[in-house]
Amino acid sequence: MIHDAKHYFAYMQRHTDALVAIRRDIHQHPELGFEEHRTSELVAQHLERWGYRVERGIAGTGVVGQLVCGDGPRRLGLRADMDALPIDEKTGVPYASVHAGIMHACGHDGHTAMLLGAAQYLAETRHFNGTLNLIFQPAEEGMGGARRMIAEGLFERYPCDAIYALHNMPGYPERQLVFRDGATMASSDYATIVVSGVGGHGAHPHRCADPIVAAASIVMTMQTIVARNVPPMQMAVVTVGAIHGGKANNVVPDTVTLEVSVRALDRDVRALLEQRIKALVVAQAESYGVKAIVDYRQGFPVLVNTDEATAFARQVALQLVGESQVTLEGPPRSGSEDFAFMLEHCPGSYLFLGAGMGEEVCMVHNPTYNFNDALLPTGAAYWSCLTERFLAAA
Ligand code: ZN
Repeated sequence: MIHDAKHYFAYMQRHTDALVAIRRDIHQHPELGFEEHRTSELVAQHLERWGYRVERGIAGTGVVGQLVCGDGPRRLGLRADMDALPIDEKTGVPYASVHAGIMHACGHDGHTAMLLGAAQYLAETRHFNGTLNLIFQPAEEGMGGARRMIAEGLFERYPCDAIYALHNMPGYPERQLVFRDGATMASSDYATIVVSGVGGHGAHPHRCADPIVAAASIVMTMQTIVARNVPPMQMAVVTVGAIHGGKANNVVPDTVTLEVSVRALDRDVRALLEQRIKALVVAQAESYGVKAIVDYRQGFPVLVNTDEATAFARQVALQLVGESQVTLEGPPRSGSEDFAFMLEHCPGSYLFLGAGMGEEVCMVHNPTYNFNDALLPTGAAYWSCLTERFLAAA
């Protein structure tokens, strides 16, 4: 028997107060990446109470809850992120962060709560046939919690035929489910460039090798990689976010340091950017008689949704909430997401859940952002419905 939307939403409406309470409890006690001790314990205790087999301590503070029903061979993974950000909260809500300088400014409190909502429903109803793996990951914000979970054997110990995750997104209509095939979130790499010259008196530049002039030229020339090397229909970003060098107007410094953020939506473009930045920076420095060392680090890969997994997720959404609340093919985004690592190991799809539009709706990573609790029933109902369809009982 296949349940209709009313079935899921009626259940979630009955549990909304409890879900909101969990979300606000997590919000009030935010923890940075790999330090989510209280949050992961809260998650683990709920899962255990509902009958999940729980493993703690994967990638430090990661938790996996497994529920097996029947003898179906299929295995599904659902992932939520648990970490907060180093931001001073300015929401003014009664359940604002009790930890100065740390807040849930990306809605991971909501992602965790809505997956717990689905976890409770699925454990109480057990209307599926197969293996459900609920993955609560630490350190999504730049520290690669997903990468560490994979390195610690996540998919060997909990094999999945498909894996799904979602992120709430201000700027899309409230409760809209937004899907996309293929590349959806950008890769995010970074480079530290140290330009070394010969310092000296600012009045005698001819006796120096000035790293500031060379660095200025490097900043400008790197922009030509996007303009002249990357194919025009492809997306690329090269942002120099920091320049450090010099202390006085009459002194030529020895060194200048540049911090660079590099993004692409295509694996080949990502490789091209790395290769061109390294080559161009070194050659440009040499042309000015200084030296440059490029410390290039790969951060998150391009997040690429699997077509088949996305098509399935879309169908579930259409049946659950109807056409008006589903965007079949949304735009790609230039932000990055740790879930990209998981999609390199397992087919799956990442979707957005609209958090509302208009000027009063605050963007994530902002001190006045607060997760929209109205999304909790939709997210929990969606994960519940997706699970029952993916692991369909006979
Ligand atoms: Zn986030």
